[in-house]
Amino acid sequence: MAQTAKKWRCMKNCGACCRLEPEERTEAISALTPIQKKLYLGMVGNDGWCIHYDKTKKICKIYDDRPDFCKVSLIGDLFHVKKDDLDDFAITCCREQIRSIYGGRSKEMRKFNKGLRIPTKYDG
Ligand code: SF4
Ligand code: SF4
Repeated sequence: MAQTAKKWRCMKNCGACCRLEPEERTEAISALTPIQKKLYLGMVGNDGWCIHYDKTKKICKIYDDRPDFCKVSLIGDLFHVKKDDLDDFAITCCREQIRSIYGGRSKEMRKFNKGLRIPTKYDG
């Protein structure tokens, strides 16, 4: 049967979710284990951004070694999201972050929305 749901896709050079200011991420932090929370708080820089985020290049400097809670494919476990709902959940999370960092009418938001792949009937 053809699918109509959009598929989540990370946008290159976005980095909106790398702003870790605890006051802005209370929901995310509440889902972390004590060990993850300690790691998270240790990554918050004085300006509220992750210390591993290169703000000039807009990339993660430790991408291959980033914590599990940075991996969108694994956030479903943190928030107990069913596999079938993961794309919608991730899209909502990204939109919230992009809206808060760049704005709801920003070019980043438009680019993110445009990049969401809509499977065709040929995807099976
Ligand atoms: S907010 Fe979403 S699109 Fe932007 S970097 Fe994070 S995961 Fe990727
Ligand atoms: S470790 Fe990398 S992916 Fe995770 S918040 Fe920091 S810069 Fe972003």
